[in-house]
Amino acid sequence: ELATLHDGQIQASLVEVTPSKDPKTPPPPSTLVFGHTFTDHMLSIPWRADSGWGTPKIQPYAPLPLSPSATVFHYAHCLFEGLKAYREPSGKVTLFRPDMNMKRMNTSAERVAMPTFNGDAVIELMKQLIRLDKHWIPEEPGYSLYIRPTMIGTQPALGIAPPKEALLFVICSPVGPYYPQGFKPVALYGTTEYTRASHGGIGAYKLGANYAAGVAAQKAAALQGYVQNLWLHGPQHHITEVGTMNAFVAFKRDNGVTELVTPPLDGIILPGVTRDSVLALARDHAAGVLKIPELTDKLVVSERPVTMIEVKAAAQLGELVEFFGVGTAAVVSPVDRIGYLGEDLHIPTGPDGMGPLSRPLWKYLTGIQTGAIVHPWSVDV
Ligand code: PMP
Repeated sequence: ELATLHDGQIQASLVEVTPSKDPKTPPPPSTLVFGHTFTDHMLSIPWRADSGWGTPKIQPYAPLPLSPSATVFHYAHCLFEGLKAYREPSGKVTLFRPDMNMKRMNTSAERVAMPTFNGDAVIELMKQLIRLDKHWIPEEPGYSLYIRPTMIGTQPALGIAPPKEALLFVICSPVGPYYPQGFKPVALYGTTEYTRASHGGIGAYKLGANYAAGVAAQKAAALQGYVQNLWLHGPQHHITEVGTMNAFVAFKRDNGVTELVTPPLDGIILPGVTRDSVLALARDHAAGVLKIPELTDKLVVSERPVTMIEVKAAAQLGELVEFFGVGTAAVVSPVDRIGYLGEDLHIPTGPDGMGPLSRPLWKYLTGIQTGAIVHPWSVDV
């Protein structure tokens, strides 16, 4: 195997491309349901413990041949990423901070004793895949191509150990705007019955197992009329995450200052790319090195623990400015109600569903993602 000559690293230049003989016609964008439609091609790269990463292949999207004894089916060796490719009005296609996703994917792989890889090569291969399926990105504003890099353990053997075989693959799905009719604030259930993550556990990694464990809790929240869980942690009910988004809370402070808070990356929080981006923009704005239009509040930005007790007290005193989730899929998701220990806390939202911080931050971030604002986070495909 050629790959062994290169320290087992992924060699993008060795890619073998097999174009589909039966390409599909992309459906009308308005009919797209998130994650239900896939493009004509996929990328796959096999790995073996004895030879490292093998030849990358871009080939027609198709089922995977896997043994029923493959590691992934028994011990949940599955991890994934989610990022978007945007098509600018000029036709130029860009990715948003793909290096962050590759970095996180490697930390996820390490956590379940799966192989790590050189992220640069996978970015290069993803770009080739996206270029091949570029016509699947709808031209309408707000639409994008959701990219799903995944890694699974494929060794056909039972027994709990680091898998000796793995597969890294990437599939692509055209998606519409999360809020096609404008922002709709969500109601959260502050769950004290289930926990999403614990110290020393896996909540800080993007492992499939985290999400399987959350579905029953989400079903329970939905039965009570809430859209998502607000994941609380520990006896003081620390705020951790909003469904599958990172949580931000804004408090009114003295002298007209607003404090924007998100919990620290202390091992039970997924290090979101959107979280990191919102923090960086808000901090630059607070420091005066960036001027985010319409962000008029004087800001202090904190990564610190925040509890439900603090949020409830602030809501009662009228000091809660807003509460929102951030993530790749919706970018920003404002919250207007939190069910907590049998009562509902009401959270202010503006007439457009957003708040004085989330609105300008959302505008600025989506401006970068769609190319309206030139920024190094946006990477040409
Ligand atoms: N928290 C969880 C649990 C998630 O699954 C996600 C989505 N990856 C996020 C936060 C947001 O991360 P990102 O901004 O990278 O999409």
